[in-house]
Amino acid sequence: MEISEVRVKLIANKDERLKAFCSLTFDKEFVIRDIKVIEGVKGLFVAMPSRKMSDHCNKCGSKNHLRAKYCNNCGAQLGENRAKKDMQGKMKLHADIAHPINAACRRKIQESVTAAYNTEVEQSKQPGYKPIEMDTPDDEVPDIL
Ligand SMILES: [Zn+2]
Repeated sequence: MEISEVRVKLIANKDERLKAFCSLTFDKEFVIRDIKVIEGVKGLFVAMPSRKMSDHCNKCGSKNHLRAKYCNNCGAQLGENRAKKDMQGKMKLHADIAHPINAACRRKIQESVTAAYNTEVEQSKQPGYKPIEMDTPDDEVPDIL
């Protein structure tokens, strides 16, 4: 599988760790969007598209974010620590929607996205730079760092 295109949309954001949104095209025929470039302690991190995990209120059945203490709908108190823990014992609040399943593929994506991001940053310093059109997904930084 080859990455045939990386599109980078640089963003200015209240959370300064979030640097850009990207879309990746594989083999010129499959696109994954909503990939995030995040400035981490060890450099740039490429976060796969993810969704917030949620569960249902025992009382009314409404959907709530795992971090919610009270039900959004009926106000019932929700249990604490409902999120599953990852291997480091951190609460798992997001689930990847699409992701590589081995280290080689993860590295390939990381390198392609980082290179495209750096190119875009350089281009953005040129006069007449026009950022690409891309609708922006939610700008929350997943808890991966
Ligand atoms: Zn409820």
